[in-house]
Amino acid sequence: CGITACIGADDSVDSIMDGLQRLEYRGYDSAGIAVKDQAGISLTKRVGEVSELVAAVEQNPISGNYGIGHTRWATHGGVTDGNAHPHTDESGNVAVVHNGIISNYQSLRSELESKGHTFSSETDTEVVPHLIEENLRNGATPDEAFRAAIGSLSGSYAIAAIIGDDQAIYATRSGSPLVLGVGDGEFFLASDVPAFIQHTQRVVYLHDGDFVVTRPDGYEITDSAGRPVDRPVEHIEWDP
Ligand code: GLU
Repeated sequence: CGITACIGADDSVDSIMDGLQRLEYRGYDSAGIAVKDQAGISLTKRVGEVSELVAAVEQNPISGNYGIGHTRWATHGGVTDGNAHPHTDESGNVAVVHNGIISNYQSLRSELESKGHTFSSETDTEVVPHLIEENLRNGATPDEAFRAAIGSLSGSYAIAAIIGDDQAIYATRSGSPLVLGVGDGEFFLASDVPAFIQHTQRVVYLHDGDFVVTRPDGYEITDSAGRPVDRPVEHIEWDP
């Protein structure tokens, strides 16, 4: 029930893990992380406490300049490692974390399966990486692929994604919380401020329908039609 993401730091793993631990109060049954470096996306996910995930990553270290993390409160699909987030498409090229419920996932899944996509979980969430991948296959840019995928969803969601070799985190929200942390050459996305407050006190509260792309050198917020929207950066006092 929590999202964290980080881009711009030398290594994102510690920030993402730390953020997940700071979101533990929200409740969850499993946790996971996906980070990207030149070699591709590395994915680790575990049922249980975030400490289980930390132990797994200590045993099999991963690294990446940017990535996404998740604590899950299962709504669709049992509490298993496979149903934990992040979810990927079959190429392993796209990774997605999601909070909320995608209410039309069954019809989306059937449609994607008829186009040859193979699903590996029972979650509603897994339609998202496959939708993005399908759009990429049809020639869309990562930005277009993300927007079009989100445009076909019904339900409530906060979503963050990493897509191919595009050094960026794509995110959006509708009915679930998502905030952007603006650091010094690093940027964070999270369900709530405590996830990144030890890194920055500058926060942008995103609205339903906002799309954010963060890169190591900045961020851009747009509406669903791609028009820039202006959201204030608030300086918050918070005792971490
Ligand atoms: N509906 C998704 C799932 O069951 C996300 C649940 C959540 O918000 O953690 O995997």
